[in-house]
Amino acid sequence: MKIEKGIEKFLDLEFLKKETRGFGIIEINTEDPSCSYLHPDWIEEESWKCGSIAKLRRKDMPGDYYKLHFIPKLDKEKAAKWLSKRLGVKIFPKEIYIFALFHELGHTRKITGDLSPEGLKMSFLKDPSQQSELRLEAEKRADSFAKKKLEKYRIKRRIRISDDE
Ligand SMILES: [Zn+2]
Repeated sequence: MKIEKGIEKFLDLEFLKKETRGFGIIEINTEDPSCSYLHPDWIEEESWKCGSIAKLRRKDMPGDYYKLHFIPKLDKEKAAKWLSKRLGVKIFPKEIYIFALFHELGHTRKITGDLSPEGLKMSFLKDPSQQSELRLEAEKRADSFAKKKLEKYRIKRRIRISDDE
């Protein structure tokens, strides 16, 4: 697996390697020229509407292999607030990339089958009218997978959530 230098600034590399094992992630970086959110004109405020902290793209080769892209310069406080609201669960600013990692893993075929990017592509070809519905369902599944993973992550590290924090 290829990991771009700089990723260690916001994610522990050992943790990253351990968590991505078996998911077919062959490259992790902060850049993807074909990803509009990483365009120079990209506006942070706009990105929240898309919910982008990270992005999973299928590698153009046989089998289920992926590239994982992170958006490195984010307002963590803002992102945490936005995520907490979306999930109905308190997410700490220091957890946003961890949650994003879990969420993106939740988009792989291993976890979500036909709702993975490649699975969706095939459904689009069959019935384009279902596109947005299936996408929404895929996001829900990825969130639910990530919430469960984060719960375990917190239990392991004895991270407690209190309302006055
Ligand atoms: Zn997603």
